[in-house]
Amino acid sequence: MRCGSEENIEDYHHTTPDLQTSKRISRHVRSYTIYKGTGGTGHVPICSSCKKEFSNWKIYNGISLGLIIVFWLFFSFMLLLLMIAGPGSIAPGLEDIPFESIQIGFGISLAFAIISIIIFFYINYVSKSNPKKYIIISKGIILVKPIGFSNWIFLQDFQNL
Ligand SMILES: [Zn+2]
Repeated sequence: MRCGSEENIEDYHHTTPDLQTSKRISRHVRSYTIYKGTGGTGHVPICSSCKKEFSNWKIYNGISLGLIIVFWLFFSFMLLLLMIAGPGSIAPGLEDIPFESIQIGFGISLAFAIISIIIFFYINYVSKSNPKKYIIISKGIILVKPIGFSNWIFLQDFQNL
């Protein structure tokens, strides 16, 4: 379905998550999530090499999400440290750390934060192996956009071409 190849066709299991909204009951009660039922799961026939690309993409996506979380935690921590150890106000426990070191650390963490944005952008928008670029399931209906197509079409229509 993706590249047009009809060799070694396999079923690819795809899920488009539902859109969600969160409702807060009150200031003290945790919010709950409403699933709007907009997504869905389904099987799409693709060739084995596309299937391999998709599964590799999932691995890279998982690794990058982990990295992005670590980078942003580091960045938040350094930002906090920078604020509490500002040039004038020396916080207890931070007296021994030169302010310049904190500034350099913050600079490094900022660079990591920017790198993580680039990784996120690449994985989600640039990478041609992102299955979400080719398959969308909306309210249980499978739409596909094979390579060379400019519009989304129903999987059923594509199979009848
Ligand atoms: Zn293919």
